[in-house]
Amino acid sequence: MNHIVSLEVKCPHCDKSMMDADHPIRDKASVKINIVGKKERGVLWLCSVYGCYSHESNISTEKDETFEFFCPHCNKSLLRDIKCQICDAPMVGLNIKTGGKVNVCSRSGCENHYVVFEDLAGAVNKFYHELGTSG
Ligand SMILES: [Zn+2]
Ligand SMILES: [Zn+2]
Repeated sequence: MNHIVSLEVKCPHCDKSMMDADHPIRDKASVKINIVGKKERGVLWLCSVYGCYSHESNISTEKDETFEFFCPHCNKSLLRDIKCQICDAPMVGLNIKTGGKVNVCSRSGCENHYVVFEDLAGAVNKFYHELGTSG
């Protein structure tokens, strides 16, 4: 049995859902973010499955290039005042609908992601609940 938990992510500024059901990754709605690089601007879709770091983009993302991340709804920057502990690039901050935050490194090729739960016990309970009922 595959236990898949998909995180629903929303914009920390306008509170709108950033899930894109029209662009699924691993059969789940992905997280849609507008990105601006040095040469191109485009769209990045992140896999919403907890623990999966797959992503797709409609522009070519060179390894080690850093990008600016913007909400597709309100166009505000999603970069936070936190540096990646691995490569020192700014981290991207997104809110999880059920509470907590996801931080993703803005550098292409760096797989530093982490999920921060504000209410750890509650979120973990919810996770186990979903795991227990999904199969
Ligand atoms: Zn927004
Ligand atoms: Zn990094």
